[in-house]
Amino acid sequence: MKYISILGSTGSIGRSTLDVVSQHPELFRVAALAAGSNIKLLEDQIHTFRPEVVAVYNDASAEELKKKNLPAEILAGEQGLAAVASFDKTDMVVSAIVGSPGLLPTYEAIKAGKDIALANKEALVMAGKLIMEEASSRGVSIIPVDSEHSAVFQCLHGRDMKEVKKVILTASGGSLRTRSAAELENITPAEALKHPNWDMGRKITIDSATLMNKGLEVIEARWLFDVPADRIGVILHPQSIVHSMVEFVDSSVIAQMSLPDMKGPISYALSYPDRLGDVLPALDLAAIQELTFEKPDHEKYPCLSLAFEALRAGGTMPCVLNAANEVAVDAFLNERIAFTGIHRVVSRIMESHSVEDYSTVEEVMEASDRARKETEEMIMEKIKI
Ligand code: MG
Repeated sequence: MKYISILGSTGSIGRSTLDVVSQHPELFRVAALAAGSNIKLLEDQIHTFRPEVVAVYNDASAEELKKKNLPAEILAGEQGLAAVASFDKTDMVVSAIVGSPGLLPTYEAIKAGKDIALANKEALVMAGKLIMEEASSRGVSIIPVDSEHSAVFQCLHGRDMKEVKKVILTASGGSLRTRSAAELENITPAEALKHPNWDMGRKITIDSATLMNKGLEVIEARWLFDVPADRIGVILHPQSIVHSMVEFVDSSVIAQMSLPDMKGPISYALSYPDRLGDVLPALDLAAIQELTFEKPDHEKYPCLSLAFEALRAGGTMPCVLNAANEVAVDAFLNERIAFTGIHRVVSRIMESHSVEDYSTVEEVMEASDRARKETEEMIMEKIKI
């Protein structure tokens, strides 16, 4: 029996993880759960999965939940998240909090020696060097849940990185792939939120449309697989069937394919190195008929280039890119800036930042908070956006 704790249990990945757990009660049990403020759903999850400890990030929501006399210990705030992340009965922590708030609890889980099923890419984008060093020094496995990285992980399957020429991440191109660069200026949040293949949270759906999500994944891949930026490629693949590929030194390419459903990578991360049956419907390639690929247009998708730039600059620059993007996407979703304002804001914040090295997670959070504040100010003042 593997005891699982989920950071972010009410989000899209958290819910899919619980689906996998309920499909395999003979293999998995829920030890602890943490969520932000959706206590209605959290209460249902407590009744169904009976975790011993539950953390609610929002203090007021935690108080509200405590009043319900549920059969779990209810904790609040950052300390509550840390307690769930390091809960002693847990074998594996599913890190599925959206965005930069996922970094600290993920780091806590690693420090507590827990294996990680990593869906929160920001932990590696912001502090990849620290996270990987800490994991390696504590013998912690980080198994990717991000579908592209799960694909690469499956293609590599323990091969020596010396045999790898290139890691090639696929991108669906998101909701606006068929729109021209000129049309993007007037895109509304509702249009940008209509992803053709994947059912995901709002933030990542917008990141998918700007290709910033792919940029963040390039940075994530750099740390997960210890591969430099010039050996990571990105290719558009609108059908989202090939989830990523690895090109080996002999130019042989291995790809991983399945239907686009996060239960695939989640179940692989939970059960690795075994594979579980009955997770996804069969892939019917004859029905799909066509798999197509195209080069990404860097002019239409400046966010992808910005992410490569941040990765090459190193230090706190990827953290600054991520912070600026989080604030800018939120501003777009609230109709405060245009869709194309996102890349303009991120680019300007990066220009104003000089690369600093980091050696603690506190330094990383400071850089992130500072960049968020600067981005907020820039959007408030509407300077050249
Ligand atoms: Mg992904």
